[in-house]
Amino acid sequence: MSKVIIQECKDYNLEAVTNKINDGIERIGRWDKFIKPGDTVLLKVNLIGPKASNTASVTHSEFVRAVTRILKAHGCNVWIGDSSGGAIAGIAPTAQAMKVAGYEKVAEEEGAVIKNFDREGVTGIIPESGCEDVMYLARPLFDADVVINLPKLKTHSAAYYTGAVKNVFGCIPGLAKAKYHKIGAEPEVFGNIISDIHRGARFSLHIMDGILAMQGEGPTAGTPYEANKILISTDPLALDTAAIKMFGMEIGEVPILKVAVERKLGEGRLENIVLEGDYTSVPTLEGFKLPKRFRSSKERNNKVIGKVIDFLKARPKVNIKKCKSCNICVESCPVKAINRETKAIDYEKCIECMCCHELCLVQAVELKNVNTAAGILMKLYKG
Ligand code: SF4
Ligand code: SF4
Repeated sequence: MSKVIIQECKDYNLEAVTNKINDGIERIGRWDKFIKPGDTVLLKVNLIGPKASNTASVTHSEFVRAVTRILKAHGCNVWIGDSSGGAIAGIAPTAQAMKVAGYEKVAEEEGAVIKNFDREGVTGIIPESGCEDVMYLARPLFDADVVINLPKLKTHSAAYYTGAVKNVFGCIPGLAKAKYHKIGAEPEVFGNIISDIHRGARFSLHIMDGILAMQGEGPTAGTPYEANKILISTDPLALDTAAIKMFGMEIGEVPILKVAVERKLGEGRLENIVLEGDYTSVPTLEGFKLPKRFRSSKERNNKVIGKVIDFLKARPKVNIKKCKSCNICVESCPVKAINRETKAIDYEKCIECMCCHELCLVQAVELKNVNTAAGILMKLYKG
């Protein structure tokens, strides 16, 4: 049976975070089950773009500091790594994002090493799903002795939720991510790409920063929510199963997790998951806002309602008044659906990956219903 530890932690006080993580690890077999002195441990953070830690868009820098200090105290070398989304003139802004999130400072102060996945070379894996012949992942994943996933608890306007399972997408360096968004335009195919990465890389532990979570239009344009939770597991799917239950989602409603169940990535049945720590049943996050585009099982199962919702659903639209013409969205769009001059979106081409919405640094890509009447109807239906 998979085990998930759910801890209550009210802020990023270093001592409190450290104690909660250490207590959680004790409950799943002690640190020496996972690491030994002299090991090089890679922390795969959630670094979606150049966003400060207090925006709840990235794994908080003090959370990363706490894990780094624990590992250093065990005699390990620590690497902090990821590849962010977005591109400016063809270059993913990972280096800048490392600075803005506060990881560069943490690394300097704690004696860790930053691994910018865009500059560290790649290692090829054979994707089990057969989506292509070889998939290239960042080499530090294979050079490190141990890889620990540090996901963030967030909603996602396209995938509905992003946590331990989805966080591995950043293992694909730089602009290659756009290619996989294009190949994975269908949610099930994208879910298989994510499962392929889990199978190819070797994550031994997942420690989720759910202290300051993101609700609504995540992963970057939502609002912070004080969830005050840390979730720990060796099973990413079990961790996410418990996490989404906190705000009322089910596995079958999140395509990436549904595929992860089919691919046997872990345990997706809550009744088969042992919960320990400060909670032995899943707590509820009261008033937590779900993304506008989220469709519940009830809506999916009703074919008529499903079709109406598909027709009326919110789509990305650039608010020209807010737009700074940086062209990050234009260059990051995997199907080149955004007009460079006018920023108009060609909905015939758009595959609704929401990268433009996710990566715009000034939140100028908004999710709009196709017309006002549609918006009112959706609000009435969804309550
Ligand atoms: S919508 Fe955002 S990302 Fe796109 S050009 Fe404008 S400011 Fe840049
Ligand atoms: S317009 Fe936006 S949502 Fe549509 S495919 Fe391009 S990046 Fe994705």
